[in-house]
This record gives sequence, structure tokens and C-alpha cells, in this order.
Amino acid sequence: MRTSKWMVLIVAVTAVLTMTAAAQQTSSASQNPQAAANQPAATQAAPTTMDQVVDRVIEREKGLVKMLAPRTPLVETYLQNLQQDPQLGPIPQNDRYFLGRMDLSESIDRSDFLKAEKDKDESMERRLMGGFTKAFKFQYTPLGFSWMIFADRDDFDRQHYEFRYARREFMGDVRCLVFDITPKKDAGHGRFLGRIWVEDQDFNIVRLNGTYSHARRNTYYFHMDSWRLNLIPGYWVPAYIYSEEGDFTAGAKNKIAFKAQTRIWGYNLKTTMGNDELTQIRVDSVKDDTPAAQDASPLAAEREWQQQAEDNVVERLERAGLLAPEGDVDKVLQTVVNNIEITNNIDLPRPVRTRVLTTSPLETFSVGNTIVISRGFIDVLPDEASLAMVLSHELAHIVLGHNLGSQYAFNDRMLFSDESTFANLGFKHIPEEEVAADKKAMDMLKGSPYAQKLDSAGLFVKILQVRAGQISSLLQAHLGNSIADNGTVTRMAQVATSAPALDWNKLDQIAALPLGGRVKLNAWDDKVEIVKAQPVAITSARDKMPFEVTPFFPRLTRFSTGVAAPPTGQTTTANAVPANTN
Ligand SMILES: [Zn+2]
Repeated sequence: MRTSKWMVLIVAVTAVLTMTAAAQQTSSASQNPQAAANQPAATQAAPTTMDQVVDRVIEREKGLVKMLAPRTPLVETYLQNLQQDPQLGPIPQNDRYFLGRMDLSESIDRSDFLKAEKDKDESMERRLMGGFTKAFKFQYTPLGFSWMIFADRDDFDRQHYEFRYARREFMGDVRCLVFDITPKKDAGHGRFLGRIWVEDQDFNIVRLNGTYSHARRNTYYFHMDSWRLNLIPGYWVPAYIYSEEGDFTAGAKNKIAFKAQTRIWGYNLKTTMGNDELTQIRVDSVKDDTPAAQDASPLAAEREWQQQAEDNVVERLERAGLLAPEGDVDKVLQTVVNNIEITNNIDLPRPVRTRVLTTSPLETFSVGNTIVISRGFIDVLPDEASLAMVLSHELAHIVLGHNLGSQYAFNDRMLFSDESTFANLGFKHIPEEEVAADKKAMDMLKGSPYAQKLDSAGLFVKILQVRAGQISSLLQAHLGNSIADNGTVTRMAQVATSAPALDWNKLDQIAALPLGGRVKLNAWDDKVEIVKAQPVAITSARDKMPFEVTPFFPRLTRFSTGVAAPPTGQTTTANAVPANTN
């Protein structure tokens, strides 16, 4: 702190005029009185020079590093290698999927990448290249695309960087100050080079865009665009990172190109657990609706057993951050399921529930009476009829009594680490049940309100068939049956037979959407919601981008109080900057 004051004195001469406006913007409402009482006056005063702003940015960044240190969020990277198509431009050639957990305690990915403390630059490189060259095997390990959640975790300061104010800019609803950041001459390898956007109330970084500089020979730093969201009071937490490399212009030598989306969520998984458990106990002790008069009949016992397994699995997946808490998206899904049930006179002993898997790969499965569908699958479906097609297959399994997972009614089977979820849970049906479910689903669809709208569902299956060979990682299920096998679509293939022909030139024919267009996952509490994006007119075949990866452009808004209570634990408010700097 003393250092920063001293800095201000020296550089105040160069203060930029634009700062007065920023100072006015600094809202006193954002300052929690309790936090203010704990803070030295110097950190509370609104900055009046651009250099004071930079000091505040550095402080806030250190505060974020500290706040996130005990957390182990999930991090998912989905990458598409690209090839040039004469008509469609860059399209997927093959893909990679990676899901892991970040350990933010002392440095990012510490367990895997930073063992060689003696050469920090080298470890940074291995962090990048390691993640890339390890071929993104599907397992929980740290990965290379997550490093840009911070500009520089350890040395983000004036000793290592030049900060140059560029301009003021609105990002969504949030007014930001924009700075260009360059590493100082002898700052070393692997330093951030690029631009940051800083919100103008508490001076948190909300976006980072750039790369790392001073790569050594034979090494390469990716370009990244990293976004943070104000999901809790006072902090903007890293949520999305977009990466892209390659050049398809005429004459370009490097034709290797890729696009990758990294999503981070589950920040609050461990801290909420205690509270949830208490709530659970209270609820359970109040309502016990099992008839006490007599023992369960054999069939009733069987159903009870199934439900127990179902509840165990749902609870376990939610605890691992792989299942979103019940919410509004489920209501949409449930409506579609109900539409099929009612029109087919399906009367099940228990209502069918739906839940959203938080991951991108296209998969569904069911356990007991719960149908689970992945976030990525909902994203790419073009309309309600195609959603009905996907859900009808799982509903068919339930109707046909293809119950799986009764072994999970034994609670010892729930005792495994989150990281080994996919090794410990599985809901794959035998091929005969898959065929039977498809057949039953077709029958149900024909008797449903979606019967006349199955063209779009058929087109979806067709475009899936066109791309299946190139997006095998996206089509690889991790808990249920995959919808394609060796580049051939196996799920609901029959729907395609009556569908119209695929035509890239028909701009109103949207067979499948890009990833990320429908479902928004809250990085802090894992809740999902339907995105309210304005539809954008498609002007060429290249705009269709089925199943493709695109950049992120979240509309930034400030955390609104009154919507949700502040999270538990050490997170407080904006100005609770930890005292230790440097
Ligand atoms: Zn199935």
C-alpha cells in the first residue's frame, strides 16, 4: 500500500484529464460499510489519476487471485481443428475435448505444470503446449487453455508491465476503461501482451485480450480472449476464454488452424455443500410421504429402489458440478416431455423429471424417471421439434422400463472423487434397448404435436451425419450412449428419411446451431438459463456454422443485489482488498 501511494506522488504529473469522469463514476453504493471500516482510507478514496486507477486494478487483481485460491472450478475446453472449405470457409476437420479441474491455490494448474520451479518460463510454455499436445484425453487433469484467467498470476505489477490508457468503452451495460499492457523489456518470457478492460466503479478487470510475449524458439503462445462476469458482489470471475489460431489467407504458410472455447464453472461447489446438506435434512424430516401402514409390495419396493438410485445419482452429479441445479430450463424440457406424454396417453407411476448436464458434448441419458440432456446438445438443436425428438428417445427408455443404474441405490457406490465420476457412473444401454427405444420414440413422436414438424428434426439428423466424422469428440458421450458411432449417426436415424434435402444455399434452412447459442451456465452457482439473444439474420452459407465454435461476447452487467444472497465464505465486497501486495 505504501508503495502505491508513493507511486501516485511521482506520476501524478502525468495524470490524464479523462480521469475526472471516472472518479465521478465511482459509486459509493458499491462500498460496503463493513468492508470500508476495515480498510485504510487510502484504498477507499476514489482514484483521481489514471495511475491511481492502475494501482487499484493491480490491487483488485491480487484480491481476485486470493479469493479464488481455495477454489477448484471445473474447466472445459472444446477445440476444433479447421480445414478450408471452398463454400463454407473454415469448417471442423477434427476436434478435441478436455474437462478438468483447476487448482488455483498457488498457481494455475500447479499440480501438473509447475513442478519445475527453477525455470518459470519453461513451465509456462509447458502449461500452454502441454495442454495442447497431450491431445486432450478425456480425464480430469489440468489443462493449458485455462492460463488466461489471469493476465499474470504472480507478477501483475508496475515492475513488470507498462500500462497505457487507451480509451473508454461500454461493454454491455458496463462502462470500462481500456488499457494496453506491455511487458517491460527485461520482464522475462511468457508475459502478458494485450489489452484489458476495467470496469469503472471498483476497477476490476472484466476482459483480457491478447497473448503472451517473448516466446522462445519452437514454442508458441496462443491468442486468447478472456471474459469475466460479475456473478458475486465485488468480484468479476473468469467464465469464458476463446482462442483462435491460424490463417487461411492466400499465401499463408501456416494452414494449421483451430478455434477453441473454454468454459469455467463450479466455483462455489465446495463452499455451498454444508448449507445444502442442512437444508436437505430439514426438508426430509418434515415430509415423509411413504405410507406407514404397511410394508411396500414387491413392485412398490422395486420402484422405491429405482428412485433411491435416481436420487443418489442426481445428487452426486450435482455435487460434482456436472448437473445444473433444477431451474427454468428444466421447465422448458419438461413441457416438451409432457406434450409427448399427454398426447400418447402415457401414465407413469411417477412424473418424468429433466435435468441439464453442464458439459458440451452432445449426450442424453436417463436414470430412473429423470432424463438428463447436456447443455451442448440443447445449444445445437434448431427448434422444439428436434428437442422433442432427442427427449423422446429417453422417454421411450423410461416407458419401456429399461431401467439402468439400480446399483447406485447402494450408497457406497456414490463414494468417489468428483474427478472420477465418469469412471464410476455409467448409463449405457445394450444395442437391443437402443433400437427398441428409437422405435418407441418414433411411434410417440408420430402421435404427438410434433408429428407435423419433424422435418427440422430430420434435417438435424442429416447435418449431424454430414459432420459426424469431424466432430467425434463432441459426439462422444461420457455417461450414456453416444449418438454416433465411428462417424455414423445411430440415434433416431429414421427421422432423417422423410426430411427434405440439405441445402447450404437455402439460407432459411437451419439444420443445427453453433455451440453456446441457447443455454447460459452460471460459472458461480452452476445454474442454467435460456439465453435471450436477438436473432441475427443469416446472409450466407458461412453464417450457419452447425456445431461450430465461435467467439464469446457476453453482455456484461453488474451483479444486482436483491436477486441472490451473497455467497458464503471469504468473499465480501468490492473494496475488501487484501492488505498484502507484493
Ligand atoms: Zn438410449
